[in-house]
Amino acid sequence: MHLSDSHCHLQDPRLRGSLGEILADCRSLGITRWMVNATRETDWQAVSEIAHAEHGAYAAYGLHPWWQKERSVHWADHLEQILRVNPQATLGETGLDRWMEAPDLQDQTAVLDVHLELAAAFDRPITLHCLKAWPELLAVLNRHPRRKRGLLLHSFSGPPEQIPAWVRAGAYFSISPHFLHPRKTRQRAAFQNVPLERLLFETDAPDMAPPENMMLRRVPHAPLSAWNHPANLRLCLESMARDRELSQEKLALQVEKNASLLFGWI
Ligand SMILES: [Zn+2]
Repeated sequence: MHLSDSHCHLQDPRLRGSLGEILADCRSLGITRWMVNATRETDWQAVSEIAHAEHGAYAAYGLHPWWQKERSVHWADHLEQILRVNPQATLGETGLDRWMEAPDLQDQTAVLDVHLELAAAFDRPITLHCLKAWPELLAVLNRHPRRKRGLLLHSFSGPPEQIPAWVRAGAYFSISPHFLHPRKTRQRAAFQNVPLERLLFETDAPDMAPPENMMLRRVPHAPLSAWNHPANLRLCLESMARDRELSQEKLALQVEKNASLLFGWI
């Protein structure tokens, strides 16, 4: 059985120092591919290095709403250049966030527009972050011409009734082990409405940890309060197989097929 982590941050300093050990642990549990998402212009180089060095690691480049204010004036040219020379590079993580302190939705939208234009121009999938701005995000997507390649709504927490509209927009939806917290029951239940052929698994490691008592592995030297280890991806498979009343083998096969289709891992 093989599994792919469709959204994580292996370049994060909390993981990078122990990356060899962490990925060996993952591989021993059948986790063999990772879409490593940048969050700011200053981590694009680290993401690129990991994608070159680690078999099964792939790169996504973008500006996360929390870090957009740090961007250089040349960020869009820089991003375009990366896409031009890396045919496998994808876009992410970017999106809209109204949950953060003092959100500037106008600036976030302008940055998102550039990512979407590049995704269309270079025919690449894009990974989107969204907190408390689901109608606005769908409106932005619908303003752009429909891209040939799909998009990933990572840690989808939007309203279940919006899922069909997202499916029509080409969306895939990834669930993280963080949704196993009892306070996230509503978000986890929403995934019952996601078509099986649009479901993906992610960890968002080192963030979005599962409940402490469910941790399968711990990041070396992590404080007790839990950095998320990418091996916790297995919890997505176990919980979704239970929720959907499917065998883990059958579900893993379908989710791998989905990841391959979205990211072009053929
Ligand atoms: Zn993330």
